[in-house]
Amino acid sequence: MKDHEWLPLVPIKKGDGVWLEDFEGNRYLDAISSWWVNMFGHCNPRINDAVKKQLDTLEHVLLAGFSHEPAVQLAEKLVAVTPKGLDKVFYADNGSSAVEVALKMSFHYWQNIGQKNKTKFITLSNGYHGETLGALAVGDVELYKETYAPLLMQPITVTSPDCYYREQDETCAEHSEHMFSEMKETLAQHAEETCAVIVEPLVQCAGNMRMYDPVYLSLLRKACDEYNVHLIADEIAVGFGRTGTMFACEQANITPDFMCLSKGLTGGYLPLSAVLTTNKVYDAFYDDYKNLTAFLHSHSYTGNPLGCSAALATLAIFEQDNVIEKNKALIQQLTMATEQFNEHPHVAEVRQTGMIAAIEMVKEKQTREPYPWQERRGLKVYQHGLKNGVLLRPLGNVVYFMPPYVITADEIDMMTKVALEGINIASK
Ligand SMILES: *Cc1c(COP(=O)(O)O)cnc(C)c1O
Repeated sequence: MKDHEWLPLVPIKKGDGVWLEDFEGNRYLDAISSWWVNMFGHCNPRINDAVKKQLDTLEHVLLAGFSHEPAVQLAEKLVAVTPKGLDKVFYADNGSSAVEVALKMSFHYWQNIGQKNKTKFITLSNGYHGETLGALAVGDVELYKETYAPLLMQPITVTSPDCYYREQDETCAEHSEHMFSEMKETLAQHAEETCAVIVEPLVQCAGNMRMYDPVYLSLLRKACDEYNVHLIADEIAVGFGRTGTMFACEQANITPDFMCLSKGLTGGYLPLSAVLTTNKVYDAFYDDYKNLTAFLHSHSYTGNPLGCSAALATLAIFEQDNVIEKNKALIQQLTMATEQFNEHPHVAEVRQTGMIAAIEMVKEKQTREPYPWQERRGLKVYQHGLKNGVLLRPLGNVVYFMPPYVITADEIDMMTKVALEGINIASK
């Protein structure tokens, strides 16, 4: 609140593609897709049309005892595009709620099949899964969690396979693979009391865009099967093409037991989320009402028709424009445009997974000693960005790019140029 006395809020009047415009006519390139939700630009004509059409047909109806066309169509589409074996869809209305649903449903599944001692969750350090109490508990970003610690259930936390910490002569894959031994030991020790392992596949986004290799996910899938523990893939941030494939899990060729989707699901238009799961999980809830096997979890706006229609339009663009294939060129552009940061005396690492690129600013390049967070150097990059027409919003000392897929090569160059100037100023 106090920050905004010297750093005024930016009121936005309108959006068009990758651009946002304020009331004074200043334009900002949305380099972070408005917190990772926007897929095909602001006010995308095709999504706009779909939502307008839906608005004149049905704005909302409860999803209890009732259903509607976009909810049915979207569920069918999601089953079709997600990894094989995810055949059932449960709607909610935001990302944190999707995580709550997956946690509750996993726990409840084990209750229903008589494994009553399974009450725990295993999570990775530096993970983030949202900020409602359950989601916050399985996350590990201290800043968000510390104050509420007395209210939170205690997960079992395993060290993240984060490749930033690999040895100099180690590849990312080697590091991720050897980091798996801790997970394996934890599963061996705690499987009896564990419902599920929850991870953000490939990129820990809120945890400073830290990345790891798909081999970790392959090993995790195998171990979860071996130890009879669910795998929850929180693809809320990384889903819908961000990592280069439609879903991050595809790169490890795995099917999780639960997949949480939100953020890009509606193209960045409306709050909506979905949890996909297997027929096996579904069947454990299929019973007469006299037993408390039913999954009772409802939100007023669950499966909202406007949100579903935006999601259907978004998925149609992926299909019609062959987006995953076309993004390969953009991914290459992003690689070329961020190479120059490697030589910067205060950059320890430039990393990229698909359409997500991140620059790690440090005090000491050789030792990787970080800047103290109190210096808030990222804020200087943010301010420089605003003055020069780019919305960057560094996570601590990590400047990152996660643009909408309608960005052009020239816009990528502009975005990275402004970021580099910002880092020059911030590291003085
Ligand atoms: C943003 C995010 C969430 C929470 O979604 P909200 O809609 O903000 O509640 C959960 N998990 C991941 C990985 C996220 O990035």
